[in-house]
Amino acid sequence: MNGLMQDWPLVVTSVIDHAAQWHGEREMVTRTVEGPIHRTNYAELHLRSRKLAQALQKLGVAKGDVVATMAWNTHRHFETWYAIMGVGAVCHTLNPRLFAEQLVYIINHAEDKLLLIDTTFVPILEAIQDQLPGVKGYVLMTDRAHMPDTKLANCHCYEELVGAESGDFAWVPVDETDASGMCYTSGTTGNPKGVVYSHRSNVIHGLAGNAPDAIGARSVDNILPVVPMFHANAWGLVFAGPMAGCKLVMPGPKLDGASIYELLDTEKVSVTAAVPTVWSMLLQHLEKTGSKLPHLKRVVIGGSAVPRVMLEAFERDYEVDVAHAWGMTELSPIGTLGSFKSGMEDLTFDERMDIKVKQGRPMYTVEMKITDDDGKELPRDGKAFGHLMVRGPAIAASYLKGEGGTVLDDEGWFDTGDVATLDELGFMQITDRAKDVIKSGGEWISSIEIENVAVGHPGVAEAAVIGVYHPKWDERPLLIIVPAEGASPSKEDVLSFMKGKIAKWWMPDDVAFVDEIPHTATGKIQKLELRKQFEGYELPS
Ligand code: ADP
Repeated sequence: MNGLMQDWPLVVTSVIDHAAQWHGEREMVTRTVEGPIHRTNYAELHLRSRKLAQALQKLGVAKGDVVATMAWNTHRHFETWYAIMGVGAVCHTLNPRLFAEQLVYIINHAEDKLLLIDTTFVPILEAIQDQLPGVKGYVLMTDRAHMPDTKLANCHCYEELVGAESGDFAWVPVDETDASGMCYTSGTTGNPKGVVYSHRSNVIHGLAGNAPDAIGARSVDNILPVVPMFHANAWGLVFAGPMAGCKLVMPGPKLDGASIYELLDTEKVSVTAAVPTVWSMLLQHLEKTGSKLPHLKRVVIGGSAVPRVMLEAFERDYEVDVAHAWGMTELSPIGTLGSFKSGMEDLTFDERMDIKVKQGRPMYTVEMKITDDDGKELPRDGKAFGHLMVRGPAIAASYLKGEGGTVLDDEGWFDTGDVATLDELGFMQITDRAKDVIKSGGEWISSIEIENVAVGHPGVAEAAVIGVYHPKWDERPLLIIVPAEGASPSKEDVLSFMKGKIAKWWMPDDVAFVDEIPHTATGKIQKLELRKQFEGYELPS
């Protein structure tokens, strides 16, 4: 028997329609690329998205075309997403931090037809435009007064395009399974691979990602997505926010501690989200200025492991609830979030932090298990660690154009490439990327856990751990440290600080001090690069 309910397609344009109709007055505040703060609301954003959709059609964009953006989190970037998806095209977010060769590869591989870009990124595209034969034109996301002199061919002014249209436009009908967005993985091994989201997967992820135990934003909340829209869909906030009718505060290009603090404060932000590096800049700023965070209730942190010192600073010093999240581009991107279960609120501070330092529980729509090398499921005891496997409606089934071959196993599980533990209550803890885990005498050592302990030392700004060759144990951990500003901790200092905080046999065999640790385009430590840098490193015997 079929259910007798209406066939209402899960398409992303329904999100902006809903926001405009029922939360039309709710604000979006942007720190613009041009500088000043800009205010608008969902009703205006809805109208301008439709105007832009009309303009895109006039520029030749048709259903199924791929249109790329290279832009900061701003009201214009928000409009761009809904306009592109609203004409039935696919919105491909480009990460400006990628190398030029990677951008050329991605733009050509995705067959991007038109690029909408912030003026900040004009030089990047001018330098590579000759290598982009498929790109028919560029739209600079600014007004006429701020249009730069540019060598970009067939270049349009965003505000002029929008200003010329009426907005009398019906979204182009699509199936919910049609592609709506695209984002390439960072490609730390081989070429980046394209993850293609559908309307349905984005709507489902928006709904599930905003459940009370996940991001949990309500219409009364003011959300600041610091996590860029070019990085894994800004963790779904650009869908979840308007679904709930939240005020959205868009940080534009300024992501330093002082600028973020100013928005958190003046816009009374209650929920925010970003990777740990952003929060270390904010915490340093707070410490320096003695500022507090009276409005902020919840900070979602993910993308890399949250160091315990950061977790404790937010929770103890600023009374902000930290939601440690784990995810990846292939998961739309959230997989787990660390909300407490019944009774956990009553534990001691240290016990609560023991739970929060883990990456959290699977949200609804994400199935999860850990397996050994032979694919056998491992126990959920918080100790056994194995390959983290996931399944669900907002998880990639394959990559664009079949790159990387078959990515699901016979039962439809996707191997995340992460190694993790799962405990009895469902809390997952990442041990490492499978390729970064250190194999010492047949046992595995978690580089993440050692890094977490090391950054707890006040003289350490950043820490990375890699395995280096050892004649007896195969590999042993080498701790690489960037000292904090003005500090010069010694090897002995750091090691004695770490003693007792991790297993004895996990203690690094040596400590190296460097000025800088290389990062990927998504802000993660580039272990591959570090391993190259320290190739042939001799550990003290
Ligand atoms: P992103 O999620 O940053 O878009 P990727 O998809 O390239 O970028 O990276 C996903 C990977 O990031 C995960 O597979 C995992 O290794 C790492 N990661 C994400 N969140 C966390 C976290 N909270 N703790 C540890 N590692 C994390």
